[in-house]
Amino acid sequence: MDQLQAEVCIVGAGFAGLAAAYKLKQAGQAVRVLEARDRIGGKVYTQLLPDGTPINMGGTWLGAGHDRMHALAKEMGLETFRQYVQGDNLMLLGGKVHRYSGTLPRINPLALFDVGLAMQMLNWMASQVPLDAPWEAEKAHEWDAQTIGAWIDSRWHATTTTAQKMLRTIFCELFMSDPAEVSLLHALHLIHSLKSIEWAVGAVGGAQQDLVVGGTRGSPSASPLGWAMRCACERPCVGSCRRPTASRSSEIR
Ligand SMILES: Cc1cc2nc3c(=O)[nH]c(=O)nc-3n(C[C@H](O)[C@H](O)[C@H](O)COP(=O)(O)OP(=O)(O)OC[C@H]3O[C@@H](n4cnc5c(N)ncnc54)[C@H](O)[C@@H]3O)c2cc1C
Repeated sequence: MDQLQAEVCIVGAGFAGLAAAYKLKQAGQAVRVLEARDRIGGKVYTQLLPDGTPINMGGTWLGAGHDRMHALAKEMGLETFRQYVQGDNLMLLGGKVHRYSGTLPRINPLALFDVGLAMQMLNWMASQVPLDAPWEAEKAHEWDAQTIGAWIDSRWHATTTTAQKMLRTIFCELFMSDPAEVSLLHALHLIHSLKSIEWAVGAVGGAQQDLVVGGTRGSPSASPLGWAMRCACERPCVGSCRRPTASRSSEIR
């Protein structure tokens, strides 16, 4: 087995690992990034259609207030653009398509009120979960012993079936998995870290505000993240990076 030498070894070439490698390299450290998969980017993955159109399969938007990500993108020479929000919205609910403009869908007002109330309850519960130590929330054990799906399904929290369906859709979208598989405590921690449910699902002023021109992974020619990507992806490696000695590692000097 090859032996790798480095001052710092980073496990995982997702954006966190790559950003850490970039900062450490700027600080003059020799860094190795180890990646288990045959590509870098982790949960950020942009596929290009034959005509060059980028399709983001994972991490996509830079949210309002994601100042460090915006600054990093700028530093990388990447441009961003606003999420397009003109026109009507469509919502498929119970097999029926609802077309509406603005933020409030034209559905049963009681169901809308019900959703709003449940969201405020969740926002309030989330505010009780410490960001740096969620396990220290007063009700941490109680909330971790149930799923966000079970919470939504309780008639105490959402009384109408429509409200339950809408809440399930919101959390499916947030977690990319069935709410029945997500701890309530984890969901609350995420809501708190994202500010609120409204922010998490919002476009302008919310989590889905800006996109990167060319896709989230950025153009391989953009530097210096593009540089890090070239180091890990392409052969031969450029600059002072050595060709990876192990197929899934790259040295960044
Ligand atoms: C579908 C989807 C949509 C999203 N949309 C957004 C969005 O719009 N905006 C936003 O801000 N965020 C979004 N996210 C979240 C965002 O993509 C992630 O928070 C972020 O990419 C996580 O980066 P990371 O480096 O921390 O982890 P990861 O991207 O998970 O990277 C970890 C890397 O480590 C590797 N690894 C793990 N274990 C080992 C090991 N033992 N040895 C070697 N390698 C290992 C993995 O293969 C992976 O490449 C989305 C996520 C998904 C899945």
